Amino acid sequence: MTRTNQLSVPFNKAYLTGNETSYMKQAMKGGPLTGDGPFTKRASALLTQILGAKHSLLTTSCTHALDMTALLLDLEPGDEVIVPSFTFCSTANACALRGAVPVFVDCRPDTLNLDERQVEAAVTGRTKAIVVVHYAGVAVEMDAIEAIARKHGLVVIEDNAHGIGGTYRGRKLGSIGAMATQSFHETKNVQCGEGGALILNDDTYFERAEIIREKGTNRGQFFRGMVDKYRWIDIGSSYLPSDLLAAFLTAQLEHFTDIQRRRKHIWNSYHQRLATWAVEQGVAQPSVPDDREHPAHLYYLLLPDLDSRQRMLKHLLGHGVLGTFHYQPLHLSPAGMKFGRTGPEGCPVTEDVADRLLRLPLYGGMADADIDLVIGAVESFHPRG
Ligand SMILES: *Cc1c(COP(=O)(O)O)cnc(C)c1O
Repeated sequence: MTRTNQLSVPFNKAYLTGNETSYMKQAMKGGPLTGDGPFTKRASALLTQILGAKHSLLTTSCTHALDMTALLLDLEPGDEVIVPSFTFCSTANACALRGAVPVFVDCRPDTLNLDERQVEAAVTGRTKAIVVVHYAGVAVEMDAIEAIARKHGLVVIEDNAHGIGGTYRGRKLGSIGAMATQSFHETKNVQCGEGGALILNDDTYFERAEIIREKGTNRGQFFRGMVDKYRWIDIGSSYLPSDLLAAFLTAQLEHFTDIQRRRKHIWNSYHQRLATWAVEQGVAQPSVPDDREHPAHLYYLLLPDLDSRQRMLKHLLGHGVLGTFHYQPLHLSPAGMKFGRTGPEGCPVTEDVADRLLRLPLYGGMADADIDLVIGAVESFHPRG
């Protein structure tokens, strides 16, 4: 970036609630700093409550929580898991790691979510699960997904990295699937730098999930006095974060309502104030069906084509605003083509929107002056030239 192009509004800035430092100091004084300490218990309880879920197990990332779902499903080479192509690679990578095949299904042109109307055609005798991603925190058509899953005996997993605080027909996102995963990466609504959680809404997975998270040992049961020694009893890995990170996360979760208030203000400002410009310029704004609430995870615009999207990113940068594009189609990625398979109907919508989507900055610390600056920069761009 040149000196004349000083960045006024970055794309993301880690938002701090104020208590992170004191909680981490408290953790350091009290200990133990390993996993499952006092702050891990506090953060897990808060998360379970926010999500209306049954159990929350903190993990080192959402990617690791997804890996745990693949282990819990006992995925084997040749098994298949239906995933959207329009998502982050971790959604599909978990299944590929077990030698199973991610089957890519297209997204809906309105919500950009997995198109439930195309899921059943992708089911085969080897299909084990459907992983949905509530894109931008706007819920997938879960009633339809659950009906298909019931009919074919499939497990539904919510990759809920965007969806904390969102609802679908009155049900909280993260509490609908048998399992769900959360991300606390710095770019997410609630964050601790790097972190995540595995959410279990079905008791049958809980005992084994704890073992998988603790290197395949029953150390959790040992600490609760349920067994007299702990041993290696299953495959697993080290997915349990330090209590130091859980202390940071506790501060964030305690301020969830404040974080959300600010994010919704930014999202609503963009949505209302850019509406006229968008209609005039042939730009589409996010579409949120009436039966669901979203947690203002991200704000995007769909430009007329790739060329206008690229020109708009440059235009914004010239005004000191860093916008970005988002997911590149997984079914066309090198690993997606090597390890996955595309469903019978292809993913033309994913290919189209990946070229046209532009994300605007959205983070808790954005001041009203920053919002004004972004909106001014957007409105001074005319995609049709
Ligand atoms: C961020 C994200 C992930 C990965 O989260 P990490 O915590 O960084 O592993 C996975 N899936 C989706 C949909 C995400 O947005």
